Amino acid sequence: MVINVQTTNILQTPIEYLKGVGPLRADLLKKELSIFVYEDLLNHFPYRHIDKTVITPLASITFNTEYIQVMGKIIALDILGEKRAKRMVGQLTDQSGGMLELTWFQGISWIQKNIHIGATCLVFGKLTFFNGKPQLVHPEIELVQSQNFTAKNYLEPVYPTTEKLKARGLSGRQIAHLTRQLFTILPEGCIQENIPTEIVGRLKLMSRFEAYRSIHFPCNLTIFEAALRRLKFEELFIAQVRLHLIKLRRQRASRGVVFEKVGDHFNTFYNQCLPFQLTNAQKRVLKEIRTDTAKGHQMNRLLQGDVGSGKTIVALLTMLLAADNGFQSCMMAPTEILAQQHFEGLSNLLKNMPVELALLTGSTKTAERKRILKGLMEDSIHFIVGTHAIIEDVVQFKNLGLVIIDEQHRFGVEQRAKLWNKAIIPPHVLVMTATPIPRTLAMTAYGDLDYSVMDELPPGRQPVKTVHRNEMARASVMDFVKTEIEKGRQAYFIYPLIEESEKLSYEDLMQGYEQLKSFFPEPKFSISMLHGKQPADQKEWNMQRFVKGETQIMVSTTVIEVGVNVPNASVMVIESSEKFGLSQLHQLRGRVGRGSEQSFCILLTGSKISAEAKERIRVMCATNNGFVIAEKDLELRGPGEIEGTRQSGAVNFKLASIVNDKQMLEVARLEAEQLVVNDIELQLPENNSLRLFLQSAKGKTGWSKIS
Ligand code: ADP
Ligand code: MG
Repeated sequence: MVINVQTTNILQTPIEYLKGVGPLRADLLKKELSIFVYEDLLNHFPYRHIDKTVITPLASITFNTEYIQVMGKIIALDILGEKRAKRMVGQLTDQSGGMLELTWFQGISWIQKNIHIGATCLVFGKLTFFNGKPQLVHPEIELVQSQNFTAKNYLEPVYPTTEKLKARGLSGRQIAHLTRQLFTILPEGCIQENIPTEIVGRLKLMSRFEAYRSIHFPCNLTIFEAALRRLKFEELFIAQVRLHLIKLRRQRASRGVVFEKVGDHFNTFYNQCLPFQLTNAQKRVLKEIRTDTAKGHQMNRLLQGDVGSGKTIVALLTMLLAADNGFQSCMMAPTEILAQQHFEGLSNLLKNMPVELALLTGSTKTAERKRILKGLMEDSIHFIVGTHAIIEDVVQFKNLGLVIIDEQHRFGVEQRAKLWNKAIIPPHVLVMTATPIPRTLAMTAYGDLDYSVMDELPPGRQPVKTVHRNEMARASVMDFVKTEIEKGRQAYFIYPLIEESEKLSYEDLMQGYEQLKSFFPEPKFSISMLHGKQPADQKEWNMQRFVKGETQIMVSTTVIEVGVNVPNASVMVIESSEKFGLSQLHQLRGRVGRGSEQSFCILLTGSKISAEAKERIRVMCATNNGFVIAEKDLELRGPGEIEGTRQSGAVNFKLASIVNDKQMLEVARLEAEQLVVNDIELQLPENNSLRLFLQSAKGKTGWSKIS
């Protein structure tokens, strides 16, 4: 294929060379809108269009008319009022016989000079009614020479602009002039197609050039929508191609340790120590992991499972698989409490197994730390559980083969990368999410990872009953909790942690604690309390008492949120629950319903709550399904707010939305995947234009690898 260099480069022409711009305006366009070259102007999309394709007969104006364009004769033009009330009022009539009043408070001298009685004018503006009569205030007006004038044959774009630009004569309309000007000099070939022709044809997409022209200057709304559809698809498709290229190339190029066999560790545990039957979902995921880790390429797998779906045991079985093949494993948790709990849970499960397990956190004592560091170097410790303390440089392994990251969203990309460097061949990575991720997000923000879904809870679980109660009903809520405790159950009371005023929430917590003590007096009842300000050993002591059932009530901030497992706890009361996000509420609720008893979650709120908070509470009461909740969360908050994806370029599309364009995303993903699998180097002639696009500056983005 011959590329015409000249036409390709015209888009890179500095904006000052466009007629009507010049150096001063160019400077402002750069500073205010980041428009440096022609191409940037093309990508500055209008936020709406004005329809001047029709000329409305004055007689057909109704109270519902909004913006109108009319053409007629000026039959009166007078200055009325004085001082601040001074205005120019004109009367316009047309062949239909209607009348329209035109009013100007400013620019009167311009009107006097240019418009006179008897002139035929084209007028555009927003219709208002004054004393029942239709009028336009400060309409756009221009003289027309003949009655044969025809309306515009395209919709006029209106662009976002800024005050500074307006002051320099670059209003939204003037930017439209520039864009119009640009299209008169652009040859069609300069906006090269970047989606393979076959796909463009099959999906009935508008050509790229046509789409750019029509998103700015569409002939009508249908054409505009077709242009928008094409450009949205392009965004999604290009992003998906890029993700699949990263994923597939990494899969093919990466070296990974090989777990070639399933050995004694795995089998003995599976047959003799496993306290329950695995669910089908757990079995399926294990199979996926088994296949991944035997291939000789590094595994990068995201394991999504709802709270309580049993991710920990999958992690443990994978660690045993690593051990069977002579490799060490580490498991990282986001909080000390959770690390501690994993350590105890795993120690218990592994008590009859010939493997050494250790716990390393920020509060591990020096002597113990020394012992652990030595053990890891010598491979006398096989499994290590801990917090981010594990990624410190002094922690070195003899033979690290597997990294498990629990409740993933709290670990940054860089932190994960540090773990890679602890082994010559990068270890396999299994990332376990705190909360299900909406499918569209998984496909975009995490699209370069493989992912497994555990969409099945272990048998015998009863769904948590969730209700919404007003604070006024507190006394009856307390009575209810009391009855449950008297049956032998335990309860959580959760208080919001508001970052900006940690002090306030601390006071709330203390107040709540005192109040609870009066409802649940000692010695009959005892209460644990947990919050971020406690020293680690105090946290642990409080947690342990609750885990062992020595206390019946746990009063806590959201530090309890992640992972904690106390099956006998069957009631959760969430104070000021309107202050929590959906995913967080779901995650908190996941702390109950872990045993065989019916569990309850009571969402307390004030009486005045926002509509959005109401909707969150409604969703929580209606479903226990984390996948449904995740979708709803995304819908309510938008992709930018979902934790862990804020900085990810992968979800910041200009036109497309992963909330509103789900179906299109699915299609783009399938097309991209198929294309990349068939032609990973993009060498086939039909993928030529796509390859060139990806290689060009525009095709590159600043994304970093996600994992
Ligand atoms: P999560 O996926 O939220 O991390 P956990 O791994 O903590 O869930 O498991 C929740 C509870 O379910 C634990 O008490 C665990 O022992 C139990 N569990 C896990 N898998 C099964 C299973 N297949 N059958 C019965 N109980 C299970
Ligand atoms: Mg867990």
